[in-house]
Amino acid sequence: MGFIRNIYHRLLLVPALPSIFSFARSSCATIFMMHRFTHKDRGIDGFDPEQLRKGLDYLRRNNYEFISLTELFARLNGNGVGLNGAVVFTIDDGYVDHAEIAAPIFAEYDCPVTTFATTGFLDGKLWMWWNKIEFIFKTSARQSVEIDIAGKKVLYNLNGNGNAMSVQDDFVERCKFLDNEDKLLLIASLAEKAEVILPDSPPVMYAPMTWGDARNCEKGGMTFGPHTVTHPILSRSTTEVAEWEITESWSRLCAELQNPVPVFCYPNGQFSDFGPREIGVFKKLGLSGAVVGAPGFADLQSKTDNDWSFKIRRFSFPEKLPALIQYVSGIERCKLMVRSRL
Ligand SMILES: [Zn+2]
Repeated sequence: MGFIRNIYHRLLLVPALPSIFSFARSSCATIFMMHRFTHKDRGIDGFDPEQLRKGLDYLRRNNYEFISLTELFARLNGNGVGLNGAVVFTIDDGYVDHAEIAAPIFAEYDCPVTTFATTGFLDGKLWMWWNKIEFIFKTSARQSVEIDIAGKKVLYNLNGNGNAMSVQDDFVERCKFLDNEDKLLLIASLAEKAEVILPDSPPVMYAPMTWGDARNCEKGGMTFGPHTVTHPILSRSTTEVAEWEITESWSRLCAELQNPVPVFCYPNGQFSDFGPREIGVFKKLGLSGAVVGAPGFADLQSKTDNDWSFKIRRFSFPEKLPALIQYVSGIERCKLMVRSRL
């Protein structure tokens, strides 16, 4: 299987093959989402900047059209020249590496990119809850921690046998099933049991960009959309909290920036993480759409109901070129079309 995949990946790099599938991409656009970028000076291990350059370079050389999220929504609403396989880039959360690493690279390729800002994070009022968990598991000197999660005792071994990541992921996943307040209490309890003191502000590798950074990025072509104030899973929040998280994050963006994009990004991004309640708030605020983290293309077939513009799908931007080609060329689109007819 590995041999066949190898040949397939090599074929994808031959320009003629992907172009055969261009008919399948003409009616859709591909939105990519990205998260962290490797930033050695700050000890951040993320998406390799050189791979991002290679991907952008490939797309440019092969005449893929880079459009902004605003332009995409205009075209989805029939106000433009069609989707034509255009490519849109988005980044989630608003970390410092988005300003210091990603923004200059996207500017280099004259490629629009929208960063979804968690505004309380940029305000310096919090650090991301999953980063707190990572910090606790990374720095604890204890061999193991036993903790009560939703009435069930769970034992985590921290004995340095290379399982720190899976232990941490397990804890993060369990947190996603809790109300926001319970989640924060559980993380505080984990810190206590692991004998780790969480600093008030995030350490450099978990730091946000500042609003000053965001304004500089805006000058270079990056735009910003709302992504809540504190990054809770909205469907697990009360109505008051959900409404405040959406309204306040949009109003902070409008207060701090020149051209905020009226497109929301759901924390965690699954279809179970929001509902008609959240979409009602967007409509009240006059936002034009929202993106999820579930994979899929943006196309006119997304218009399955009146709220279609608040459920636009995205793909994770792949680090390997053959995977990128598969998404943008129309091959992945063909695959999905065949699968939906089986
Ligand atoms: Zn996020």
